[in-house]
Amino acid sequence: MFAESMPTELRRLNFDNRFAMELPGDAETGNFRRQVGAACYSRVAPTPVSTPKLVAWSPEAAALLDLPAEVDGSGLFAEVFAGNRVLDGMDPIATCYGGHQFGNWAGQLGDGRAINLGEVLNRRGERWTVQLKGAGPTPYSRMADGLAVLRSSLREFVCSEAMFHLGVPTTRALSLVLTGDEVVRDILYDGHPAPEPGAVVCRIAPSFTRFGHFEILASRRETDLLRRLVDFTIETDFPELADEGDPKKRTLAWFREVSDRTADMIVHWMRVGFVHGVMNTDNMSVLGLTIDYGPYGWLEGYDPTWTPNTTDASTRRYRFGAQPAVAQWNLMQLARAIYPVIEDADLLNEVLNGFAARYTEGSGAMVAAKLGFREYLPSDEQLSTELFELLGAVETDMTLFFRNLASVDLERPTMDPLMDAYYEPAALSPALRERTMAWLTTYAQRLGADGWPERVAAMNAANPRFVPRNYLAQIAIDDVERGEFSTLHELMDVLRNPYDEQPGKERFAEKRPEWARNRAGCSMLSCSS
Ligand code: AMP
Ligand code: MG
Repeated sequence: MFAESMPTELRRLNFDNRFAMELPGDAETGNFRRQVGAACYSRVAPTPVSTPKLVAWSPEAAALLDLPAEVDGSGLFAEVFAGNRVLDGMDPIATCYGGHQFGNWAGQLGDGRAINLGEVLNRRGERWTVQLKGAGPTPYSRMADGLAVLRSSLREFVCSEAMFHLGVPTTRALSLVLTGDEVVRDILYDGHPAPEPGAVVCRIAPSFTRFGHFEILASRRETDLLRRLVDFTIETDFPELADEGDPKKRTLAWFREVSDRTADMIVHWMRVGFVHGVMNTDNMSVLGLTIDYGPYGWLEGYDPTWTPNTTDASTRRYRFGAQPAVAQWNLMQLARAIYPVIEDADLLNEVLNGFAARYTEGSGAMVAAKLGFREYLPSDEQLSTELFELLGAVETDMTLFFRNLASVDLERPTMDPLMDAYYEPAALSPALRERTMAWLTTYAQRLGADGWPERVAAMNAANPRFVPRNYLAQIAIDDVERGEFSTLHELMDVLRNPYDEQPGKERFAEKRPEWARNRAGCSMLSCSS
């Protein structure tokens, strides 16, 4: 049944490409690297690939486009989402943005290897921009090739959908397609370039608008276009704010919303132990979505100073514990960019201060949920501070520790349910055991006083059993490189219900094995992708 219906469903996609229709595009249509002024995008076709092969897709993401849950792997679907076929109604563009990279203004960046095929209006009236990543060079490719390799594409595909199921705001991933072409990369930037399988991920999001889209216009003093992009963004992505007739008030309300959403997103990252790795302003979505999965990682041992990104090893600017402050710094760059629209630094600063307040409140509620408290009381500060010190004192798996904490017997607390979280139980000194026991006793008393029957369920809803651990993605990559796709499919399946115990799937919840401790791709990643 499906083999016939898919091409029909694909051809029936309802495109309404507002970004391309309502904002000015680049007059030049040739596909060569250049600076693109006075425009928000350039038209560019995806580069065809030799033999597209569908590796995996997300039925939940397909549903957002009204596509059926089953997919014909060798047919039109793979052709379209590898970039070989442009359907009627699509209008492929690469958008222009700039950004602060590692604290420095980097000028024009833009979609160097991303191409928006178009915006789909689904039957529920939602708008979804459909974007290919790795589908060939664009005017924004600078020195690079516009391509992506399997390992990074698979990591983006898996993590996007896993984050969605974890309840973390994120862009989505529809499909992962092998191109059949090789792409040369020097994984560790150590002078050993080698060919790797190329791949294309199809991502979808209401929009892919980044802080950097506004920064580039401000840097070029294109204030009229900056105003237009702000208004367009409010109308399409924040229609609830569009009724305010005063442009300054409207823009300020929008900036406050961006700030709030960003704070909420970071609270989620801290809850699940996600480290983005490259929080440059070009990788910050104005929708408060996690975007651009590159050298990201998941905390194994709890360590606020950890970053998976070897490119950032010397300063660790984007380490786990710095993410809230970096988000605020990034918002400050957005504030600077939109200053010409608002022209009132005090008002912008108020919003930036509001970020800290919102984050602090959200973070308290998040910690309370993880610990099973009905609410976070000022007196809980000491308890949580001591806990995070303990977690950092000896290598302790963050995910396992919190998940297993719900199993501690409140009448007679012991460390038994927690032992699995310790990478080296022998490293727990008697003093540390004593401190941990003291903490558990105080914790049990605090919970006892709360007397909350739904506590365990609430804790299990905040503390996932399954996250896309770095080594799990690597195992799936190794298998797909060997032509074996079932590991990836099983992993995706487990990650669909991250808060449920899944009998028979315990191995996906295990802490990092020793072989993965220092293996490239597991705990160490570079920007090479
Ligand atoms: P990232 O730090 O990966 O988000 O990328 C920063 C900028 O580099 C963006 O403008 C990307 O589009 C561009 N870029 C990254 N990798 C490539 C590539 N292989 N080809 C072309 N552009 C790239
Ligand atoms: Mg990026």
